[in-house]
Amino acid sequence: MKLTRRGFLTAALAACAAPLFAQQAPALLPASKGRRVVVVGGGWGGLSAARQLRALAPELEVVLLERNPSFFSLPLSNKWLAGLVDEKLLEHDYRAAAQAFGYPFLQAEVSAIDRDRRRVHTARGTLDYDWLVLAVGIRHDYAAWFGDDRRAIDEARTRFACAWTPGDEFRALKARLDNFKGGELVMTIPPPPYRCQLAPYERALVIGHLLKTRAVPGRLTLLDPNPPPQRFAEVFEEQYRGQIEVLPHARIKSVDPFAKTVATEFDDLRFDEALLMPPQQAAEPAWQAALIGRDAAGKPTGWAAQDPLHLNAADDERVFLVGDLIGAASPLFGHYPKSGHLAVHLGRIAAREIAARARGRLPETTLPESSCFVAARLAPSESLRVDTHYRLRGDGLIVQTTKQHFDPNPRGEDVAWAKGMFGELFGYR
Ligand SMILES: Cc1cc2nc3c(=O)[nH]c(=O)nc-3n(C[C@H](O)[C@H](O)[C@H](O)COP(=O)(O)OP(=O)(O)OC[C@H]3O[C@@H](n4cnc5c(N)ncnc54)[C@H](O)[C@@H]3O)c2cc1C
Repeated sequence: MKLTRRGFLTAALAACAAPLFAQQAPALLPASKGRRVVVVGGGWGGLSAARQLRALAPELEVVLLERNPSFFSLPLSNKWLAGLVDEKLLEHDYRAAAQAFGYPFLQAEVSAIDRDRRRVHTARGTLDYDWLVLAVGIRHDYAAWFGDDRRAIDEARTRFACAWTPGDEFRALKARLDNFKGGELVMTIPPPPYRCQLAPYERALVIGHLLKTRAVPGRLTLLDPNPPPQRFAEVFEEQYRGQIEVLPHARIKSVDPFAKTVATEFDDLRFDEALLMPPQQAAEPAWQAALIGRDAAGKPTGWAAQDPLHLNAADDERVFLVGDLIGAASPLFGHYPKSGHLAVHLGRIAAREIAARARGRLPETTLPESSCFVAARLAPSESLRVDTHYRLRGDGLIVQTTKQHFDPNPRGEDVAWAKGMFGELFGYR
């Protein structure tokens, strides 16, 4: 029998995960009476796909698997760090969505995906699928800095976490910022693509604002591989000259979380506190399931390889890839913005694809869009809205257009947008 690349990778993975695949793990749910879609990841993309699937294909069983007990919104989380929005707005109960739309929510961490058997493995048991929606977001590539030095990775992850994925890191970061008594604070911005391109600058604004309004004798140094966007650079200079310093074109050469030092090509810095953000990649399950794309030289791109129009995995029509984990969408612009709004649109598209395929059809091509609100200034407040639209060119390539709108007198449009999204994802009336 000829061994295909996929077969080889799956076999290699199965060998690594042999104890997992081999053991007689119990099924998490009784066998489906019809056909089942397992959605892994209860973030923006996964919740959207689950909801739309229930609406478009009520004949399919939909199950949501998520490792966290509750949903925590990253949009508006920077404002929450500054005490400008209430935590109640950000945290949501998965059971509300599950009840509203009629699908089971199971809290479990996916440890492996056996694509040949169409089976998802978790510590609590396994779940078979007819279609899988993988919407697990990103992971931090600490190995790019520390290789396989586990001690350094653990130290950076636990002491200097950047809080860029949903989970407990956010509360820990808030406590660290609230307890920061002064000194040198460093924040590293990863090379693109990364999740929510303007959010690091919004986070820097928030930290500058906290230092200034609390009269903390500290300074934030932003290590940026690019120059910062113009409006942010102006506001940092006008309002936070004593609190924020930006070092542009700063490529990280080495990080020592024990000695608390960072080296770039031009500078060596020592820090008292840090938000260490290494390069980003698709989250773990995409690697475990051998769904990562390769570049022309055969190196892993770090991101899942999808059919750009239909969102199924490049080599598997039973797996759909949704949200920040996906790879480049078009050679004309590269990656879609890694935004919650875009992930919601991708979730809708994947649901339409699965619903149509379950009836033996292919749906019409639809493309996503994204609107993203960020604070460009806090006092007085100014907001920036970035709208991104897509269309198909004659040669089949996706084209992107982007518009920016600065609003010097915002009236809570970001909160209204988020409430609308939570209404859609959790079924609030
Ligand atoms: C500070 C900040 C501000 C932002 N502001 C905005 C904004 O204003 N507007 C906007 O549109 N976007 C914003 N974003 C971006 C937005 O949060 C992301 O684009 C969005 O979360 C992507 O959705 P997703 O579903 O791909 O991933 P996620 O929302 O990260 O969801 C992935 C889910 O998968 C789960 N998961 C991962 N691995 C496993 C596993 N093995 N087993 C089970 N579950 C697993 C995770 O726990 C998580 O719940 C911001 C991001 C940050 C960090």
